[in-house]
Amino acid sequence: MARKPKIPDLQPYASLAAEFTQDALMVTDVNDRVVWINSGFERLTGFTLQDMLGKLPGDILRGELTNKADQARIDDDIANLRSLEIEMQYRRKDDTPIWIESRISPVFDVQGKHINFVSSSRDVTERRALERATAEVTENEQLRQQERRLLSQVSEWLYSAKSLDELLQVISRSLETLMPEAEGQLYIYSNSRDTLDLTINWGGIELPPPHIEPDDCWALRRGRAYAYGMRPIEFPCGHSHAVEDDSPYFCVPITAHGQTNGMLHLNFGTFAPDRHEREKFKYFLDQRWELALLCAEQISLAIANVQLRQELLDQSVRDPLTNLWNRRWFLEAAHRQVHSSKTSRKPCSIISIDVDHFKKFNDHHGHDAGDLVLRALGARMLEFFTDNCAPCRMGGEEFVILCTNMTEDQTMQLAEDFRVQVSEIVIKYSGEELPRITVSAGIAVWPDDGQLVTDLIKSADLALYRAKDLGRNRVQSHARMVA
Ligand code: GH3
Ligand code: MG
Ligand code: MG
Repeated sequence: MARKPKIPDLQPYASLAAEFTQDALMVTDVNDRVVWINSGFERLTGFTLQDMLGKLPGDILRGELTNKADQARIDDDIANLRSLEIEMQYRRKDDTPIWIESRISPVFDVQGKHINFVSSSRDVTERRALERATAEVTENEQLRQQERRLLSQVSEWLYSAKSLDELLQVISRSLETLMPEAEGQLYIYSNSRDTLDLTINWGGIELPPPHIEPDDCWALRRGRAYAYGMRPIEFPCGHSHAVEDDSPYFCVPITAHGQTNGMLHLNFGTFAPDRHEREKFKYFLDQRWELALLCAEQISLAIANVQLRQELLDQSVRDPLTNLWNRRWFLEAAHRQVHSSKTSRKPCSIISIDVDHFKKFNDHHGHDAGDLVLRALGARMLEFFTDNCAPCRMGGEEFVILCTNMTEDQTMQLAEDFRVQVSEIVIKYSGEELPRITVSAGIAVWPDDGQLVTDLIKSADLALYRAKDLGRNRVQSHARMVA
């Protein structure tokens, strides 16, 4: 019969194991008051047995549980004397944060009476940091993917915009969605190109400057995108309110075919991070910088596209000599106007204008001088006829003004005022003052002088011929013609 090996006294080994294990051990009483910790625990937390004795471990280690459900589960396990595992962030004695994974088990005596809790813990800070970094990378990658998807949707929208107004709407909505943390503005060069005008503003509370000078912006001065708030040495642009609040911002020129058309300004002021998150914020801004450049590129192309479209459209409806609407535009607009007058019952009228004795003028002064006169006449029309009057050149020295919501009296008065103005236009050609020109005009009002556009034109022309017959340089209304 084999003899059972004699079991030695285990006490010294138990003490040795407890003292030299890498794990942090702690024993608490039934009320969870500390009765013993090993040196592993002291190494891990910096607290000595004296610091801990008789205290609740949570009070000393200042554990931070963010999840209420976890807390309820822990309380329930302890109350019911079940073993449990906890992973929690604590503070060491020197206040540095530490992630600890613990297994807590209740201990019972031979009668089965609960006498203690024993916990065994280890430092999992590095693992947690790694997990967090991986989660951040995954999250960032997901964000990038989402941005790429949004950006391709945005460029589709940008390219389907038909007018600049429509495009501006698309731009502000898109940038608000793509970069919700930024407030932004889009400035476009004015025709004179000495200032840039604010065209859209989104996400901001404060009113941005309505105009900026190119010299006030580092991006426009240096001809390349400028980021403020990312480098140790930098200067804010004059137009930016970063001067007061020091918030980071980007200025990105909008260029196409080698010409700068405007500037996209994105400000991250309302998204200021606390100082602990400076590094994270810098990473975030780097990402946004890339995205802003991509957006600006798309916006630049889209604006050039819309401008080209507008130019082509203008070419088909504008008269190149005077820049007035042409016959084609007039006919379409007049049909639309008559149609809407039918529903609104508001009158509309036309003024037919013809330069007097223009053939003679050309014969005496040459075709170029004649062209100069027609151009000056067109410019004066653009100045004089505003709001509800659209001046058009029908061809040669013949013009039509399409007026909306004006009575016969008002149209007559307007035509008369313009006739007087024309007789006062002074034009110089080759250093010489050209003789003044005069115009004759005939007016017709819908619906009395014609229900259809063609009838209205005929009536206005009849009135114009009558004005010519009566001696020119005068206005004649079709309604007041005596047969
Ligand atoms: P009326 O007072 O009866 O209108 O006399 P008019 O000489 O103006 O009339 P008419 O229609 O016979 O002549 C129009 C002249 O306008 C013919 C042409 O020499 C001139 N003309 C037409 N188109 C242009 C243009 O684009 N440029 C210039 N310079 N002259 C033009
Ligand atoms: Mg004429
Ligand atoms: Mg004529």
